[in-house]
Amino acid sequence: MSKPKLAYYLAGGCGGCDIAVVDLSETLVDVALAVDIVFWAPTVADAKYKDLEAMPDGSIDVGLITGNVRNSEHDHIVKVMRKKCKVLIAYGICATSGGIKSLVNLYTTEQLLDKAYVDTMSTDNPDKVIPQTSCIVDSKYDLTLPALFDAKPLDQVVSVDYYIGGCPPHYDHVKTAFTALLTGQLPPPGSWITSGKALCEVCGRNPVLTGKPKKFTTTIKRTFEGTPTEGACLLEEGYLCLGPITQGDCGVKCPNANMPCRGCGGPIPGVKDFGTRAISAIASMLEKEELVDEIPDPVHLFYRYTLAGSALGKKLNR
Ligand code: SF4
Ligand code: SF4
Ligand code: SF4
Repeated sequence: MSKPKLAYYLAGGCGGCDIAVVDLSETLVDVALAVDIVFWAPTVADAKYKDLEAMPDGSIDVGLITGNVRNSEHDHIVKVMRKKCKVLIAYGICATSGGIKSLVNLYTTEQLLDKAYVDTMSTDNPDKVIPQTSCIVDSKYDLTLPALFDAKPLDQVVSVDYYIGGCPPHYDHVKTAFTALLTGQLPPPGSWITSGKALCEVCGRNPVLTGKPKKFTTTIKRTFEGTPTEGACLLEEGYLCLGPITQGDCGVKCPNANMPCRGCGGPIPGVKDFGTRAISAIASMLEKEELVDEIPDPVHLFYRYTLAGSALGKKLNR
């Protein structure tokens, strides 16, 4: 029997999701032996887009796309991937929900280019030269760059079959996903590949699991404003932990290190808009309404990883 064909494309991401695949360690050898990797660009192999474009439509069994769709090149290649792949997976929170880099949508492209190339104190650019999508060099070389636009999660550009959260996905989670893929034990199309449990459900600090009395949050604290009590729920202590609505597939990494969860795992099943659900979950924990005014920087807190995929993000899209 021929091996399943796999393609991997990094769009507007940082490469961290690729590292999460490498983190599979010896399991990666089993995965590599079990699949035929036909395309992995631009990080791992010197694959050419024209090679991908030349493959017959539907000839690749599984395509993984990491990173958001941020420019015209990403837009083109994710559409090519969709045509070539039978199953397309949004891999990592940038692809599923826009990711931390979709906070750029709070600004216009012009503002961002000005900040990067003109406005900073250390920039020496008196002629205010900003990269263009095309230019002629030495009167003969026609050079082009992709056009920038607002960041989008993958499913705002093409249809997506499965979603895997995390920034990057924890290797245990990646292993579970690859095992599900290779054994064909996948959830219904459109699902997140996840245990389905919220972080709180698997967190050793959860008072429900430890038999301690449940308490309301009486104060709001930033992480540098104190040291959490050992074993206590961070949210109850005032540190804004998004564990109630975040998938708990990472092994409770942040609360185990005394840091509140920021939500990189993505929403638990059934939650369509992470930010609004997070606001609702936190609000229900507060002892009094006035504490809402003390929440620092709510957009970055509640939409840190999901702005582009949220209802708020869609309103911002220009
Ligand atoms: S999800 Fe995180 S690790 Fe993956 S590409 Fe985006 S920023 Fe990088
Ligand atoms: S809110 Fe955070 S610290 Fe508290 S139980 Fe949930 S994940 Fe753990
Ligand atoms: S605890 Fe939350 S922010 Fe930290 S790795 Fe897990 S899902 Fe991501």
